[in-house]
Amino acid sequence: MPAHGHRAPRRDDGWPGPGVATPHLKYPARVVTNADLSEALFQLAESHPPGELRLALLRAAYAVFDHPRELEGMRRLPETIPLEVLPTVAMLRACRGRDALAAAAHRLAGPQRLRGTPTREGFLTAAEANRVVAEQGALDPGQLRGAVHWHTRASDGAATLEAMARACVRRGAAWAVVADHTRGLECVNGLDDEGVALQKRAVAGWNRRHGEELWLVQGLEVEILEDGRLDVPRSARAGVLLLAAVHTGLAERRDQTSRLLRALGEPGVWALAHPRGRLFARRSGVRANWEVVFAAAAAAGVLLEVNGFPRRQDLDPTLLALARQAGCRFLLASDAHHPRHLAFEATAVALAAQAGVAGSAIVNFEPLDHLAAGRPDLVTP
Ligand SMILES: [Zn+2]
Ligand SMILES: [Zn+2]
Repeated sequence: MPAHGHRAPRRDDGWPGPGVATPHLKYPARVVTNADLSEALFQLAESHPPGELRLALLRAAYAVFDHPRELEGMRRLPETIPLEVLPTVAMLRACRGRDALAAAAHRLAGPQRLRGTPTREGFLTAAEANRVVAEQGALDPGQLRGAVHWHTRASDGAATLEAMARACVRRGAAWAVVADHTRGLECVNGLDDEGVALQKRAVAGWNRRHGEELWLVQGLEVEILEDGRLDVPRSARAGVLLLAAVHTGLAERRDQTSRLLRALGEPGVWALAHPRGRLFARRSGVRANWEVVFAAAAAAGVLLEVNGFPRRQDLDPTLLALARQAGCRFLLASDAHHPRHLAFEATAVALAAQAGVAGSAIVNFEPLDHLAAGRPDLVTP
């Protein structure tokens, strides 16, 4: 594998491409990749005033970004691209390389100047993620045993616990960790005490009936409050895997190292979920001294999450490599809110592979008894 974790030189042509996340994916120079094409469409969309055209261009940008294969060379463009901008997309895709693409985009631009934004940099397109997974040999998504961090209707998911668990079985998982939200500041749909108890019974019921096929463990995506404490009392933490996550104060520019350190020290924390809290095209996430945070996570034995939800991709390969060097261990998460989303764990595999994380440092590749060994409070087979 090539050297990992280095920052690719920033392009100075005003055209932020895939950035840090794809330093070693090579494409022929005269090819327009989905990354380039979607970025052109985002910039075009934002050059137009709010309205139908802008919306159609935005939809097209996301359709290209999320398409599982490079559109280059495909006979037909995906049907997810709105009809009214199909000719535009076809024309941009036919450009011979990035300079031609930039020139074409300038001709089509609306009243606002074309420009990129750091909040879209350093994300893998779906096609890139699939390529990374296929081309790296170190981590085999087919060997994942644990399906970790997904939601049900009990919080903001679209499906029942049963339906999600059955989807995990179909994907070949041997164990799974549901992680619905608790009722923190940001999640009015989160579980309260009663909800947690109800779900605990549902998990036990599944395990009685289907535990041989798939063993369910109850997790909770709990809120890290402003001061770094969690939104669940200590008395409620036994028997559940706590994934602590920041959902508030994400746009603030202040350093939040101490908030994260306090959360890492909270009793019962199993993992730090989407540690940065970045969101594609929206925000870069919390600022922190990550070396200090990762050292503390390694010392406390708290796992760091690699969230494969395409709009999150958190931690990214650059920070992941730093965490790997600090001796951290990881979990790969789909953060699925629908059975279909469970496949997003492949994106997490791609990110981990790019950072050179070994399979032995990833909890999902292990059998459940490894996980249970350190947690005698968990109900296990
Ligand atoms: Zn979250
Ligand atoms: Zn989540």
